[in-house]
Amino acid sequence: MTTIKTTCSACGDVELAATDLVLELTPMDATGQYSFNCPFCEIEQYRPANERVVAILLAIGVSYIVGEEMVSENEIQEFVDSLDDWLENITAR
Ligand SMILES: [Zn+2]
Repeated sequence: MTTIKTTCSACGDVELAATDLVLELTPMDATGQYSFNCPFCEIEQYRPANERVVAILLAIGVSYIVGEEMVSENEIQEFVDSLDDWLENITAR
């Protein structure tokens, strides 16, 4: 079975099977993040996945979801930030 070497923030290096990981893909992009439960401390870990990592994970059969919520939260935050800037600009006059 193919194993993936990654790191747990508490335990350091860990080896996982493809079935231990879930990849969250960013829509309209070839990146995302993957999550796994550490086999030692059982804490859920998140790691960013660049294009290369995404390609590797998909190639070894990691299951994936399209992380719409993650993206829309970011987009909403960006929208709120831009609104704040806009409000500051018009109220500063
Ligand atoms: Zn751990």
